[in-house]
Amino acid sequence: MMRIHEIMNSKRIIYVSDDNLLFQCNRLPAVSGRASMVHELIISYGLTKYLNVLRPICATYDDLRKFHSDLYIDYVMSIKEIDDDYMTNEEDEEYGMGYDCPPVSDMFQLVSTVAGGSITAAKCLVSGSADIAINWCGGWHHAQRFGADGFCYVNDIVLAIETLRQKFNRVLYIDLDVHHGNGVQDAYNLSKSVFTLSFHKFEPGFYPGTGGLEDIGVLTGKGYSCNFPLQAWYSDGTIEYVFRQIFPEVFTKFKPDVTVVQCGADGLAHDPNGGANLTAHGYSLCLTRILDMQKPLLLLGGGGYKFSNTARLWTTITAQVLGVSLDENIPEHEYWTEYGPDYTITVEPMLIKDSNKRMYLDQCISVIKENLNKYIDVEPPVQEKAQKQDTNKERHKHNCDRVCETESIIKIFKNNVHKKENAVSTHSDVYDFVD
Ligand SMILES: [Zn+2]
Repeated sequence: MMRIHEIMNSKRIIYVSDDNLLFQCNRLPAVSGRASMVHELIISYGLTKYLNVLRPICATYDDLRKFHSDLYIDYVMSIKEIDDDYMTNEEDEEYGMGYDCPPVSDMFQLVSTVAGGSITAAKCLVSGSADIAINWCGGWHHAQRFGADGFCYVNDIVLAIETLRQKFNRVLYIDLDVHHGNGVQDAYNLSKSVFTLSFHKFEPGFYPGTGGLEDIGVLTGKGYSCNFPLQAWYSDGTIEYVFRQIFPEVFTKFKPDVTVVQCGADGLAHDPNGGANLTAHGYSLCLTRILDMQKPLLLLGGGGYKFSNTARLWTTITAQVLGVSLDENIPEHEYWTEYGPDYTITVEPMLIKDSNKRMYLDQCISVIKENLNKYIDVEPPVQEKAQKQDTNKERHKHNCDRVCETESIIKIFKNNVHKKENAVSTHSDVYDFVD
């Protein structure tokens, strides 16, 4: 049955997915099996018919080196077979493999596939073949240069941002996960070219413990990181209020050429690792403001440990960017029983008090606005600008070759697809991306 009510959006939207990406993302221990649940819910609503579904290319060793250390990648490559009773050793722990990031078999395949998803999505924005690119298998914002951290084995976000910087001078990174986006901020703490903006729960003992109000970047990048530390059980009303105050200010001052949003779903009500009380409506309100800016946009996943709600959220966001409304009742599909007892697309908030008082929020807003006024340059400093232009010339030449090739390849595959007969009704055709 057709579940799409209307198509209002003329934007070119690419959704990165294939069986290998789902298979590898399903193997992530903290979100085992989640990727397929998300994908199948999107398919059940028939949304992939309106998306360009693009097969990702796995990241190479050299791709991963654009952020991660050789030592860490070599270690990842060395992990082949892990038995159920495997005990972590000192070397594993050196690279962050322990309680929350246990080593997994064929780790390089997992890491290169997950990273490749976000890099491929970013390349579509660089080539100009999409206005919005989505990878719900990405968004692993805690991974560090030298190792894994907080359920994250590879920082696909930094690798995607590095890809975007081949074309775009100023990248705005927005992190909506309930946890601080520390891995991404750490990567760009010194940078004026990438502004990181994170909204998250911040209280003693809550992971990762960073992302306070005073945490604004260092030295050359001072003022180009912004953190909104929220108290427990923040609600749609709270995120809407603070996002409405902060986002336009950051956008106007920083003037990004492209935006990356980590849509971690663990800020939703009922998440076992969360402690916030958002619904999909709260995320959508933020997304509406971001979409209104009409800039190229990369949407990534992240946390989200109540899988049914995570799938609800990312399906809702996918529909939102497509400009379609979803039937309240979830269509029957393979994972339908996971959505009981209501079997509806709505995420209900919990009956719990939002700890954030208006006075506290206003104090944070005032400090953040003060910092934005104090530190953000309207133009990059002359020296940085000059260096950038030189680098950009080389990058531009490199990109031109790549763009032409990419666009022609996407066209070729579209033509081939059109020649196919008996297309499956609920599944979109999958295009190949050739670099
Ligand atoms: Zn999280």
